[in-house]
Amino acid sequence: MSTIYNFCAGPAMLPAAVMQKAQQELLDWQGHGVSVMEISHRSQAFIDLTKAAESRLRSLMNIPEDYHVLFMHGGGRGQFSAVVNNFLGNNGRALYLESGQWSRSATAEARKLAGDDRIDSQSIVEKVNGLNKVTLPKLEGDSGKYRYVHYCPNETVDGIEIFEELESPWPIVADMSSTIMSREIDVSRYGLIYAGAQKNIGPSGLAIVIVRKEMLALPAMPQSSIMDYRLAAENDSMFNTPPTFAWYLAAEVFEWLHRMGGIEAMAELNKAKAELLYACIDELDFYRNGVAAQNRSRMNVTFQLADESLNGEFLKEAEAAGLVALKGHRIVGGMRASIYNAMPLAGVEALVAFMQAFAAKHSS
Ligand code: PLP
Repeated sequence: MSTIYNFCAGPAMLPAAVMQKAQQELLDWQGHGVSVMEISHRSQAFIDLTKAAESRLRSLMNIPEDYHVLFMHGGGRGQFSAVVNNFLGNNGRALYLESGQWSRSATAEARKLAGDDRIDSQSIVEKVNGLNKVTLPKLEGDSGKYRYVHYCPNETVDGIEIFEELESPWPIVADMSSTIMSREIDVSRYGLIYAGAQKNIGPSGLAIVIVRKEMLALPAMPQSSIMDYRLAAENDSMFNTPPTFAWYLAAEVFEWLHRMGGIEAMAELNKAKAELLYACIDELDFYRNGVAAQNRSRMNVTFQLADESLNGEFLKEAEAAGLVALKGHRIVGGMRASIYNAMPLAGVEALVAFMQAFAAKHSS
């Protein structure tokens, strides 16, 4: 089979080495004679796996001791409601910063659960010279005004990334679903980080939550036990049966990241991949990207063809060349190349070569 490069925004491609190992181990994990999916989550072998997963993640992200690492159900959206239920109690308030589709969805979910009065929101993106540009607000005020401020450092749909650090008198809750482990961050700046797994971690359905222990003293709303951070922390993320196969694959991805040189090395590679692709878009009048230079996502590169009537042909020819899932999100249209950690440089080079040849062929 010729090489396929999968640019899907999520579930996204996983590292080939991880998939090959998982395939070899599928029917007989560690000599147990059964798959990791068929083994008790209470068995010592599985508990050892979870401990290895956590310690690999802690060392990759340099997670301080005063943070819990939780492996939870319900993906990214599950956390939209979990943060509200866990931290807002009867009368807590929160501020939501909106920079695109996903942060707006998080606000909507928070309002549904806590009511409009308790959730303030602020748009932080605007069009400047026709390009989407984020300006982080100067957040000031009484430290008790909000329990947290929520934002999304990488907007998967819009291709907008926020590299600047948010300063806040309130704990920062960040939806890092599509940027986690793509570049170095200082975890100690955050009250809570969450990420749906299906981009840089593993299979969908799993969510990783990294939460400062003292945040768990905040009063919660009545809520489902399986989404309760306190119960998850007390039970080593095993209050109920966890998504064991997803956890296993996440552990393998973390090990692969270590072998690749960790997040520092990954960040360099991600920067090089993104620069190559944006350079191609900028050099040819045939393509355009609508995001200000400082907010161009390194994970989700959105672009439009100047002649949108060629969209269908572009996707068809790309697929024939082994470059799949380039269609933009239905809300924004155009194209989107998601180039997460597992996408090799060769995949981006192949895409750029294709885009250049397509433009040459279809330019009149
Ligand atoms: N947040 C971001 C930034 C996302 O990209 C996504 C999904 O793509 C989600 C949240 C929702 O994740 P899930 O589909 O796992 O609920």
